[in-house]
Amino acid sequence: MCPHQPPCPPPDAPDRDAARTLVRHPEQGWSLLCNGVVVFEDTGELLPDGEAIAPQRPIARSATSAA
Ligand SMILES: [Zn+2]
Repeated sequence: MCPHQPPCPPPDAPDRDAARTLVRHPEQGWSLLCNGVVVFEDTGELLPDGEAIAPQRPIARSATSAA
């Protein structure tokens, strides 16, 4: 499925972002990686199985782990 050498990391790998970019749509703010992961401009991701990964910005607008 992946024609690259070395092969791109699978969508469930921690380094999934390292996969090659197949399609880039900067005007729409997203890119499709070789492993089927869609990466959005805000660093959010959509996995091939439908799971959504929240954006991982260094600056958090809303604290998710505030005690
Ligand atoms: Zn690939």
